[in-house]
Amino acid sequence: MPLLGAIADDFTGATDLCSMLVRNGMRAVQMVGVPPAGYPVPDADALTVALKSRTAPVAAALEASLAALVWLRRAGCRQFFFKYCSTFDSTPEGNIGPVAEGLLDALGIPQTIYCPAFPENGRTLYKGHLFVGDRLLSDTHMRHHPLTPMTDSNLVRWLGRQTRRRVGLADYGVVSRGPEAIRAHLARLRDEGVAHVLVDALEDAHLRAIGRACRDFSLITGGSGVAMGLPENFRAAGLLPERSDADRLPPVAGYEAVLAGSCSAATLEQVAVFQRRHPALRLDPLELARGLDLERVMAWARPHLAQGPVLVYASAPPEEVARVQESLGRERAGALVEQALAAIATALVREGTRRLVVAGGETSGAVVEALGIRALRIGPAIDPGVPATVTLDEPHLALALKSGNFGAPDFFLKAFRVMP
Ligand code: ADP
Repeated sequence: MPLLGAIADDFTGATDLCSMLVRNGMRAVQMVGVPPAGYPVPDADALTVALKSRTAPVAAALEASLAALVWLRRAGCRQFFFKYCSTFDSTPEGNIGPVAEGLLDALGIPQTIYCPAFPENGRTLYKGHLFVGDRLLSDTHMRHHPLTPMTDSNLVRWLGRQTRRRVGLADYGVVSRGPEAIRAHLARLRDEGVAHVLVDALEDAHLRAIGRACRDFSLITGGSGVAMGLPENFRAAGLLPERSDADRLPPVAGYEAVLAGSCSAATLEQVAVFQRRHPALRLDPLELARGLDLERVMAWARPHLAQGPVLVYASAPPEEVARVQESLGRERAGALVEQALAAIATALVREGTRRLVVAGGETSGAVVEALGIRALRIGPAIDPGVPATVTLDEPHLALALKSGNFGAPDFFLKAFRVMP
């Protein structure tokens, strides 16, 4: 039976959370959306349902999150986690507050905590104010985010605009005194009718203390950082064995391919490094606008696949992307490339490719959807934030899904070494 059931408001956030749980000794599986009726419950200690609810309309985000909760409860999970971004990406309307409040109501409980802090990545919360490195959140690029501009770093105030019930704070002074002090403070706030409590954290020791303090909470919300303290509760309760192999994946044999649709600086360098030693085919979006010649791509790939990994990429430097976007429009260019790479992924798998690296968040989403993937078992990290994974559905595929700026220059080849 799974122990922890998580709901993540985006795909890479779900992977990030699973990776954190695996690192701390829980076997984790990521579900791609709410599984269809009758889908078997995967064998795992933690299940995470990845939604695309971060910037959806509030009602749609709430509905999807509640459906995920229903599935996770039926699957047998006993504690629930709502995962959002460590920069608390939301607007004055939501979706963090309304979704959490909806989950509280569905679970019939009076209170939950909010901890976006992730000190390892420079996200800390002090007196309810979120910092990114040395700056307040609202003094960073997040102030101008196109969908969720974070103009206020005071998350007590920000969350207060999103929720109906009262918002409070467990500040550094409480958190630094340890789990008992945190627990007592939360109970006091609960008795005063405070349903939503931001919790300060400046270092991993605080996150672990918060985890311990929330042992008996049915719902915890936060970034992936605060999840680091949760596995220990299950071990202490005798529910989770000590596992040194939580990241173990079943072996997957087959051809190897990389598909790159990200144009980030990191990806461009990874493409260049890979190309020095292995065959690569560049897709030209202007040609794709006249139709994808899938047979030509496959005729190129076939003879290479038996020799080693191949790369198909549309990644291009900013000047070239700008030229393409001027001619096709930003959205059309993006959709053309995503659809082409998704169709190529499907054809490659049909021909025996079983080990795939995909570069680009949107690109990964398109590939996962085209391949009809419903669940991924999360394995060891290739580079920080990007684990190797294996699909639960047949045919089993080893996958590394990398969003934009992640990974070292040799990421593509390293991925095939880390994959089972
Ligand atoms: P990242 O994670 O780096 O943001 P994404 O895959 O999420 O990568 O987004 C990259 C977007 O750029 C995708 O929509 C992709 O289709 C598009 N794209 C890729 N190559 C090109 C190109 N040469 N010209 C224009 N758009 C491109």
